Amino acid sequence: MGKLVIFSAPSGSGKSTLVNYLMSQPDANFAFSISCTSRAPRGEEQNGREYYFLTPEEFRRRIANDEFLEYEEVYADKFYGTLKSEVERLSAEGKTVLFDVDVKGGVNIKKFYGDRALSIFVQPPSIEELSRRLHSRGTDAEDVIQVRLDKAAYELTFAPQFDRIIVNDDLDTAKAEVVRVVDDFLNDKD
Ligand code: ADP
Ligand code: 5GP
Repeated sequence: MGKLVIFSAPSGSGKSTLVNYLMSQPDANFAFSISCTSRAPRGEEQNGREYYFLTPEEFRRRIANDEFLEYEEVYADKFYGTLKSEVERLSAEGKTVLFDVDVKGGVNIKKFYGDRALSIFVQPPSIEELSRRLHSRGTDAEDVIQVRLDKAAYELTFAPQFDRIIVNDDLDTAKAEVVRVVDDFLNDKD
């Protein structure tokens, strides 16, 4: 059975940056679990690449159909969820599946897969730095950024429930640590 690596953190901590870096490693056998969301695409996002963008009705239909491994209303009226079919498809291809999910989703996926999964909490140096990053990313309106920052302190309290905490202060240091920790996990060194 293939392994799984879960990344969770408050929005803006650097999950996507670190997941993309991991995927770009030579000889990597990773595949990204594309989640469903009912939020609108932002920036250059494309359906079927970053997310499967669903209408709220379609999202609800899939919940009723029991298609999700887990889902959360991460922000009011904004649903995000991992399809069972997505994880099964990638695992069957022999890939190590990478997840970028919110803190509750991360804890739930870890519980479901146990030792097959490594859960990593990406910790920002501070809420102030998180704010700077969300602003400089330039993809979200000010009110959206505020909602994300308002939730960040609560989300930080989930850190101890993860297998590993990686502080994303200096990016190169965090990238190297992610590669090392994931490598150790895949080679049964932890
Ligand atoms: P997340 O996926 O957790 O929401 P992103 O990966 O989109 O976060 O990162 C948020 C923003 O912060 C992006 O513009 C990214 O380039 C930037 N960023 C990521 N890591 C660092 C870092 N260590 N130092 C400075 N900026 C960073
Ligand atoms: P964003 O809108 O910035 O892409 O994502 C907002 C939050 O939703 C992030 O914390 C992201 O990790 C989380 N998220 C993305 N996909 C899923 C998912 O399938 N399940 C859960 N629980 N959270 C998700």
